[in-house]
Amino acid sequence: MATTVARRMPLARLALRCRAVWMESRGSEPPSSSTKNGNGKDDFTPGFYDNLIQKYAAHEEEHNEVVNLKKLMKIGNAAQVDERHSVVWENARFLQKELPKRLARRLLDLQFLPYIVVINPNIKKVYNSYYNAFQTLRKFPEVKDDESNADFTVLLKRLVDEHGPMVEALAAGLRECKSKPFIGDQLKLDSFLNSMLTSRISRRILAEQHVALQQKRQNFVGIVCTQLDLHEAVDFAYRKAQQACVETYGTSPEVRVIGDQGEDAIISYIPAHLDYMLFELMKNALRATVENSILSGGGKGSRRKKMPSVTVKICKGRCAVTIKISDQGGGIDSVDERKVWNYGYTTVDENAGLEIDQGLDQGGALDLSGAAAGSNSHSKMAGLGFGLPLSRLHARYFGGDLEIVNVNGYGVDVYLNLRNLRDKDIEIA
Ligand code: ADP
Ligand code: MG
Repeated sequence: MATTVARRMPLARLALRCRAVWMESRGSEPPSSSTKNGNGKDDFTPGFYDNLIQKYAAHEEEHNEVVNLKKLMKIGNAAQVDERHSVVWENARFLQKELPKRLARRLLDLQFLPYIVVINPNIKKVYNSYYNAFQTLRKFPEVKDDESNADFTVLLKRLVDEHGPMVEALAAGLRECKSKPFIGDQLKLDSFLNSMLTSRISRRILAEQHVALQQKRQNFVGIVCTQLDLHEAVDFAYRKAQQACVETYGTSPEVRVIGDQGEDAIISYIPAHLDYMLFELMKNALRATVENSILSGGGKGSRRKKMPSVTVKICKGRCAVTIKISDQGGGIDSVDERKVWNYGYTTVDENAGLEIDQGLDQGGALDLSGAAAGSNSHSKMAGLGFGLPLSRLHARYFGGDLEIVNVNGYGVDVYLNLRNLRDKDIEIA
C-alpha cells in the first residue's frame, strides 16, 4: 500500500500541518469542528479539522489488523460452533474499535489532497459520508448481547449500502478536477486512491463478514464460499457483460470457456470480489472486440463478417488458479500500455459517444437501434477508468495478481491469478 505524507507524520506535526494548509488556502483560522452558517447549514465539510480524527487515525498503524482469507475463515468456523454467540459479539466489538480508526485515516488522507480536489462536490460527498460513518460507529454503545448486536448489524448493512456509490463519486470527482485548466495530468492521485480503495475493500469485507457470521449458508464460512465453481462464476460474468455489450452496441462476440473442469475449477473465495473482477475484464474484452471489428470494417458493407470470439481458460495450479481471458480486439497502443493501470484512464471519450459513430449506419452488421444508440449507454460498458486498476487491487488483496500481455494490433491476454487456500491453510489452530 502506498505511504502517504500523513502516515509518516507524528500527530502534533500533522495537526500543525493541517492548520497551515487551511490558513494558506483560505487566509483564516480553521474551525475546530463543524461550523454553521446563518441558515444553520454546514459552511464546509463537517469536522474537517476535527482533533478526534487525528487521534483515531494515529492508532491505525499500531493496530492495523490484516484481513486475509485464512483469518476470515477461522472466525467463520468458530462462529459456526459457538452457540452462545460470543464469537459474533467479540467480532462486533473488534469492528467497533477497528472501523473508526480506518475511517479516520482515510478522512485524514482526504484532508491532505490539494485544495482544488478537497472542495470538489463529489469528493466532499465522500468525505461527509465517511465522517458520518466515523461518528456513528464511534458513538455506538458497546455490543454486549444479541439485541445490541442486532442493532449494530443493521447499522453495518446500512453503511455498506450507503458507501456503495462512493467509488463512482471518487471517480467523478477526480475526472472533474483533472478537467480543470492548469491541473490536467499533473494531478497524480494513484497512491491516494490505492490506499483509499484498499481500505474500502477491507472495511467492506469486515462489515459483510460480520453479517455473514450470523447466517447459515451451505458451502459458506462467513463470507468465504468454500465451493466456488469458477465455470459458474465466468458464465455469470460473461452473460452480464454480453448483456451490457448488446445494450451498448447492439451486438456482442461469443465467449468460449475452456480449461480445467470439476473439482479442479473449485476454489475458496469471496464470490462478490471474483464477480467484480471477471465482469470488468469481460467488458474490456468484449468492448475491444466490438470496437476493433467496427474500425476494421465490420460496419457498412461487411455485415456478415463474424467477430472473433473471446476465450477464457481456467488453469488450476497447486495453490493458485489462473483465469486467462484472450481477445482479438486489436490490443492496446504501445504508448498507452502503462497508462491503463492509472485510475481514471479510459479511451472512452465522453463527448464523442464511443467509437460507435465512426463506421456504422443504422441497421448495419452491428445494429445500433433503440437504447443501444443512446448517448450515455456506453457508461455500462466502460468510461470510469477504474476497471483494470481496481480489479488488480482486489486480486492483490488476497495474494493474487492481474497481468496483461498486449499484442499491439492483435489483442490482449489478461491473466487473473487467484490464490487458492489449501485445506491445511484453513485448519483452526
Ligand atoms: P474503462 O473500461 O472504464 O475505460 P478500464 O480500467 O477497464 O477502464 O480500462 C482502461 C482502458 O484500457 C480502456 O479504456 C481501454 O482503452 C484499455 N483496455 C482495457 N482492456 C483492454 C482490452 N482487452 N483490449 C484493448 N484495450 C483495453
Ligand atoms: Mg473497463
